[in-house]
Amino acid sequence: MQQTASVGGVDLAYYRLCKRKLWLYKKGIGMEDESDRVLQGSVLHETAYPRLEKKELLIDNAFKIDAIDGEYIREIKLSSKMMESDKLQMLFYLYQLSLRGVVKKGLISYTKEKKTVEVILTKEMEKKMKKAIAEIYQIINKASPPAVINVPYCKSCAYYGFCYAKEVDEDDA
Ligand code: SF4
Repeated sequence: MQQTASVGGVDLAYYRLCKRKLWLYKKGIGMEDESDRVLQGSVLHETAYPRLEKKELLIDNAFKIDAIDGEYIREIKLSSKMMESDKLQMLFYLYQLSLRGVVKKGLISYTKEKKTVEVILTKEMEKKMKKAIAEIYQIINKASPPAVINVPYCKSCAYYGFCYAKEVDEDDA
């Protein structure tokens, strides 16, 4: 199998959300770095975990985690709307740490709903992770992007204009 790029936590989240989004992101077509959501996230990360010293850790130049808190690694998110993607992203970090001999559990805190969920890398989840990573490589090595998925989330996606450009043009005509 041809592998053109390394896979990171964000890729896992996009894989769960939309395979087309994953493909576009990995090809460097448009980025989310200017969106309000990401800017809000940056502010969150700067103010989160005041009692923790180990914040924003870059592991092996490969992936970044928000903080380590004893037996947990922690991530903070604005809202739980994308919880399944967040969990997959956390599982990726736990899996990558386990490959380096570090066994941790995960905690994701949602500020809007004021709730925290625990994520544990079970054997079953590990299998799921390996399968997801293999599938991500298949997707990003394709010559063209997967089809538009047309779900409510599309309207808040950074690629909305790109994916629906034709329809918008037709509506304006
Ligand atoms: S707009 Fe919809 S189809 Fe296009 S990348 Fe985003 S989620 Fe996927």
